[in-house]
Amino acid sequence: MSHSPAPEGGRADVLIVGAGLAGLSAAVRAAELGLVPLLLEAGAVQRYPSNTRYSGAVFHLGFRSMRDDPAELARWLVTATDGFVRPELAAVMADNAGRSINWLIGQGIEFGRGETNDGWHDLVAMPRGSHGRPGLRWEGLGADRMLDSLEEALERRGARIGRGVRVAALSFADGRCCGVRTSDGREMRARAVILANGGFESNDELLRRYVTAFPERMRQRGPGIGRGDGLIMAAEAGAELIGMEAFYGHTLSADARHNDKLWPFPFLDFLAASGVLVDRNAARFTDEGKGGVPMANAVARHPEADPFFAVFDAAIWDETGRLLFSPTNPNLVKHGGTLHRADTLDELAAAAGLSAQALRQTVEQHNAAVASGDFSILTPLRTNAKNNARSVATPPFYAAPGCVGITHTMGGVRIDAQGRVLAKDGSVIPGLFAAGNIAGGLDGGPQAYYAGGLAQALIFGLLAAEAIAAA
Ligand SMILES: Cc1cc2nc3c(=O)[nH]c(=O)nc-3n(C[C@H](O)[C@H](O)[C@H](O)COP(=O)(O)OP(=O)(O)OC[C@H]3O[C@@H](n4cnc5c(N)ncnc54)[C@H](O)[C@@H]3O)c2cc1C
Repeated sequence: MSHSPAPEGGRADVLIVGAGLAGLSAAVRAAELGLVPLLLEAGAVQRYPSNTRYSGAVFHLGFRSMRDDPAELARWLVTATDGFVRPELAAVMADNAGRSINWLIGQGIEFGRGETNDGWHDLVAMPRGSHGRPGLRWEGLGADRMLDSLEEALERRGARIGRGVRVAALSFADGRCCGVRTSDGREMRARAVILANGGFESNDELLRRYVTAFPERMRQRGPGIGRGDGLIMAAEAGAELIGMEAFYGHTLSADARHNDKLWPFPFLDFLAASGVLVDRNAARFTDEGKGGVPMANAVARHPEADPFFAVFDAAIWDETGRLLFSPTNPNLVKHGGTLHRADTLDELAAAAGLSAQALRQTVEQHNAAVASGDFSILTPLRTNAKNNARSVATPPFYAAPGCVGITHTMGGVRIDAQGRVLAKDGSVIPGLFAAGNIAGGLDGGPQAYYAGGLAQALIFGLLAAEAIAAA
């Protein structure tokens, strides 16, 4: 594969901003349908970093198989987000899930099963990574290869990625988006523009405005390229922004901020969801039962949670700690993460710098709820449907200091079922489309429920290209 020079303009039917999965799917599909795509990518190197390239390549929709019954899937996406995802968007994602995967297979991408034997790890781009080793690994793995295959498919159709081209502004004529301006001042024109530049997880100013007062506390779980450029441009053009507060992320060891062996895995999620999650005052502050992503969202906003602690006992450490991919036990300690351990809760509190009385009280209340099965006695309330709370009673006791790992933002520009960007009054902004992490309204919401970034990028990349070809 050649390293493509930045394009000098020329005729293009569609300009696509960003060459992650959303942008590449859109470009290849546009070329298949007879359009001339121009794909502009800010990354200058051959293997430019993107969320897609760093991803685990697990294709799922709402932690369900993309091959599940579409009507069931659509219902689930609405239910799981408490109605945040509009039924027409849920339906279009569910209806297009299976055929989008088939399209990828048609581009030469091979799928297999994941490491865990559950229903939603049935579509993993191969070769899959093993979580047994520490730190981030992506080279030669499924997502990296998938981007190569899509780039090859694009080149077979006579188009290529323009690397090192950062789009800085949108151009409009007669109210219609008709092109872009690059950061080095070039103007490019086309019938339509697809924004596929990812989220705003690496833009502290936007994070502070929409997500948390403390963005600097978070560890990026991705490549750090999510500046929100497209979101800013679309907002200036009048786009409605939706669900801006929610992000996809997990709880990590506090040491992940300076130790690269401790991100993107292991998570503290499962330990905290079995035991208790406490702040610096040894007080609970969120419903651990909702699981990792909502927990990470709550931690990010809590002023007293730097660090927070996952508190658990020997039974949880030996059982829950060993579950799932990249188990916290033994990876946390093996790779240098702090884990306080003591025979009594008072000693644990002393080791972790917490109030012994407060920690004892928090754990006693938790244990009383577990023993009685009545979680309504807890403040804040704890639910127990998704993650089973266990008593914290068997010494030694543990406290793992944590930080939030932000993978990507879930909010973004509102789109319709064809990927067209909508203005605040609900009208379509002519010529402007969005796909992938830049788009909002597809998951998140009050539950911060994550529905699968790769699936959304793929589906709306294809739909946007098809809508432009059909216009
Ligand atoms: C560690 C990790 C693991 C993950 N695992 C999974 C998983 O297993 N399953 C899953 O569903 N999701 C997973 N995700 C999330 C998933 O990777 C993303 O949701 C998805 O890849 C988003 O695709 P995208 O095309 O929207 O964005 P990206 O892949 O981030 O692509 C955006 C591209 O736009 C470019 N760009 C940005 N600004 C500009 C600009 N101004 N001009 C030109 N180009 C620009 C960027 O350089 C980048 O290449 C994971 C993410 C991470 C970080």
